Amino acid sequence: MSETFRAIRISKTDEGQTIEIPRISLEDLMEGDVVVAVAHSTVNYKDGLAITGTGPVVRKWPMIGGIDLAGTVESSDNSLFKSGDKVLLNGYGLSETHFGGYADKARVKGEWLLPLPTAFTTAQAMAIGTAGYTAMLCVLALEDHGIAPDSGEVLVTGANGGVGSVAIAILARLGYSVTASTGRPAEAEYLKSLGATTIIDRAELSEKGRPLDKERWAGAVDCLGSTTLANVLAKTRYGGAVAACGLAQGADLPSTVMPFILRGVALLGVDSVQAPMTKRKRAWDRLATDLDIAKLESMTRHVTLDEVPQAAADIVAGKVRGRVVVDIGG
Ligand code: NDP
Repeated sequence: MSETFRAIRISKTDEGQTIEIPRISLEDLMEGDVVVAVAHSTVNYKDGLAITGTGPVVRKWPMIGGIDLAGTVESSDNSLFKSGDKVLLNGYGLSETHFGGYADKARVKGEWLLPLPTAFTTAQAMAIGTAGYTAMLCVLALEDHGIAPDSGEVLVTGANGGVGSVAIAILARLGYSVTASTGRPAEAEYLKSLGATTIIDRAELSEKGRPLDKERWAGAVDCLGSTTLANVLAKTRYGGAVAACGLAQGADLPSTVMPFILRGVALLGVDSVQAPMTKRKRAWDRLATDLDIAKLESMTRHVTLDEVPQAAADIVAGKVRGRVVVDIGG
């Protein structure tokens, strides 16, 4: 009889969505040319949406959750990877159309895998996870647009979240002066410990504002979308840029063209899921040099597979601070 292992399975029934942790075997996994023994995964906002069924993430049923994984190659028919290699995977449809990282083993396409950067353990790579790698993509987008530390203050919205926390830590280390926008002012000390110099209440940005407002920030990383993103655009300085990656407030964008046509403000879209390999490698190389590991550890807590459903509910409710690593196979 083949070896069995645990996996978080999301199913759709007539009564709604169910979550179980059954034992499955390699034969139950989807097609791919590399089998990975998963050491760690993570709980990102998108995992929260998938596990709780709050958002339409899963597109094939039943599904094994987990948009990220890191571990060791167990077997490979792909010439780029061999047994024993440490690897990581972010996105590429995991937990959407392909079984994800909430299982002791995953069978995936080798072309989705990155060799684990030597700077990180598998646990640290998952402390970064999609959230942290997306934060780096946002910083790179701002840099590529010419927003430098001497351009002026930069804003990070959704500051206590995974993308927000990592973005603050990276930007501060690079020498930017960072304003953090949060609905949890009680976490001000935490945000300052990551490197934020100014904390503002997210209520300042969440209600409908003017199409153009007083110029304030040279750049921004926005995790919220909706009215917040509209207000951030309206308060971005002449020639500034906003890297938009999230929708924690909403997927709408009730804005006008005014910031674009009168101030030359740029709205930079950031996608992590289908980002090409060259972009991923660039982001992970920069994470290795520009993210303080001590700060990463300080923003991270660990959970077991059994604790994922609760962590998923918490992240959707906006109760998670920083990053959550799922300890799977060690
Ligand atoms: P988290 O849940 O960790 O962080 C989101 C933060 O946003 C919260 O901590 C909270 O910060 C704030 N927030 C939550 N709900 C609301 C609300 N209703 N109104 C205003 N603020 C709110 O999520 P992640 O950091 O993992 O992800 C952030 C966003 O980025 C998500 O929308 C996610 O889907 C998206 N994302 C997109 C990616 C891409 O490829 N484009 C990749 C990764 C993430 P505080 O308490 O400080 O106010």
